Amino acid sequence: MGEFDLIARYFTRPVQRAALGVGDDCALLRIEPGMQLATSADLLIEGRHFLSTVAPDRLGHKALAVNLSDLAACGARPLAFTLSLALPQAEAAWLEGFSRGLFTLADAHGCELVGGDTTRGPLAINVSIFGEVPAGQALLRNGARPGDDVYVSGRLGDARLALEVFRGMVSLPGEDFDRVRLAMECPQPRVALGLALRGVAHAAIDLSDGLLGDLGHVLQRSGCGARLDVDAVPRSDDLAAQPLALQRLCTLAGGDDYELLFTAPAAKREAVARAARAAGVPVTRIGQVEPEPGLRLVDASGQALPNTWSSFDHFLDPSRS
Ligand code: ADP
Ligand code: MG
Repeated sequence: MGEFDLIARYFTRPVQRAALGVGDDCALLRIEPGMQLATSADLLIEGRHFLSTVAPDRLGHKALAVNLSDLAACGARPLAFTLSLALPQAEAAWLEGFSRGLFTLADAHGCELVGGDTTRGPLAINVSIFGEVPAGQALLRNGARPGDDVYVSGRLGDARLALEVFRGMVSLPGEDFDRVRLAMECPQPRVALGLALRGVAHAAIDLSDGLLGDLGHVLQRSGCGARLDVDAVPRSDDLAAQPLALQRLCTLAGGDDYELLFTAPAAKREAVARAARAAGVPVTRIGQVEPEPGLRLVDASGQALPNTWSSFDHFLDPSRS
């Protein structure tokens, strides 16, 4: 199968919203008046962002999910994406699974594939995504204010727990492992929640590198600090059954959660609860923004905890290089 057969067979579908999709030198998107274009890109490299053991349909899902998660964090509605692939070989079974996982998630969010690039090389996947948000209404990292509540969606830490099982550091019974592995390989981007939080949240970010680091980005950009109740961070029953130190590592510095972290003023607690119900995603209050810079961690009894966790950095963490 040649490059152009591959593109035609697996990655070309009629577009619904875009003015022009795959097949020309550029795709053309329609932008409504009064809207801003939100765009984001993620590069996934085998062995660094995903393990070679992942099923192709889950990889297709995840490649798009991490980008949808970025749009969600900004409160943007997905429109379209491009897909650039480096593949060691054109293997029909792999392409069939990958494109199925990709398009299933794309269809669920009304997000169309409009172009890309395909080349031979070590397996690498880039998705660039485009969404729209009413001008001036995007949720950004810099909007947190002292007094805001800090929230996270869903449950944190399962993806890291799964990684520790793959690394041989933790063992789990098969069924439990399947569940946490699903969290790692098939994250559900919180697009509906991001949209519902427009006009409610002051600041938002999606959790890709670990709660402490990502919250740190919000606080730094917002010029404030926070108190964080580490035992209030929501976790699955699978993770809650693990030793407390591992629970804290996974929830605070886990990475690959793809949940939303956001802040909102206390006066908006009802509105936050409504947004969560409308989106069908639980949200949990885990702390409060404070004027003094820095992050103050407390346990369930209010006791201060030293911050000994580091979040992920591609150029600092030797364990993942
Ligand atoms: P060009 O050389 O002009 O960049 P290509 O020959 O690489 O174009 O690609 C032909 C068409 O196929 C273009 O419209 C491009 O956007 C699209 N395309 C290439 N690879 C992919 C892919 N993996 N997924 C979707 N569209 C793709
Ligand atoms: Mg090209």
